[in-house]
Amino acid sequence: RGGAPEKEIPFAKPGSLTRVYAVASGKGGVGKSSVTTNLAAAMAANGLRVGVVDADIYGFSVPRMLGVDQLPTQVDDMILPPVAGDVKVISIGMFVPGNQPVVWRGPMLHRALQQFLGDVFWGDLDVLLLDLPPGTGDIAISVAQLIPNAEILVVTTPQQAAAEVAERAGSIALQTKQRIAGVIENMSWLELPDGSRQEIFGAGGGQSVADSLSRSVGAKVELLGQIPLDTALREGADTGAPVVLSRPDSPAAVALRGIAKGL
Ligand code: ADP
Repeated sequence: RGGAPEKEIPFAKPGSLTRVYAVASGKGGVGKSSVTTNLAAAMAANGLRVGVVDADIYGFSVPRMLGVDQLPTQVDDMILPPVAGDVKVISIGMFVPGNQPVVWRGPMLHRALQQFLGDVFWGDLDVLLLDLPPGTGDIAISVAQLIPNAEILVVTTPQQAAAEVAERAGSIALQTKQRIAGVIENMSWLELPDGSRQEIFGAGGGQSVADSLSRSVGAKVELLGQIPLDTALREGADTGAPVVLSRPDSPAAVALRGIAKGL
């Protein structure tokens, strides 16, 4: 109570035309932020108006991956997000002094997300991507409360304890009645010079997550695509030049562009 009234979240209004995807994973390091930023860049290259909210408090790697070096600016009571390429970006890291790690608690995260969604001037967006922290915790529930029509995109590797991850994500989706947009498998194989594929992290994780999710939510959940291991993707992420733009014909970029088109 007290303080300024909370602003309405435009994406939560009935009839909002913005598709909202919450990108989730069971654990860190599976490429969730790489997938989020490349999907955003690929969709923007296809002419869509795209925004990204980096809510991954443990990494906040999204601005670096998209090559954002500005901070948000404030005009009256509106926050203007920096733009990288054509993608508008807000990151929790932009509000942490010196990018120091902070112990964020559930309510703080909820409030931060509420501000990112309500106080930031996004304009009309076709797509909003939310990069969630790994694990299916409080923030996934917050997303569901703040934007009930947000759909969940699950990123996994071929190796993960698939059923376990899927059950947790599935039970959250069931609780929050959110649609699962699909599963993306990353680091699926390495293409060798002779054209053969080396499955470094094993095989089948993405399909098995999709199958167990289908069972737990009682509706078909698709494996939307498989992204190979690709040095170009890692280099693009490190230099702020998403691989879908900087090396569009590299194996990971081809896979990511295909997934972006299908969403
Ligand atoms: P998460 O967001 O799940 O923690 P990141 O997107 O930060 O994962 O990826 C972790 C690391 O793995 C990064 O250095 C990233 O560049 C690298 N990486 C992710 N996907 C691939 C891939 N398909 N090929 C090569 N490197 C990858």
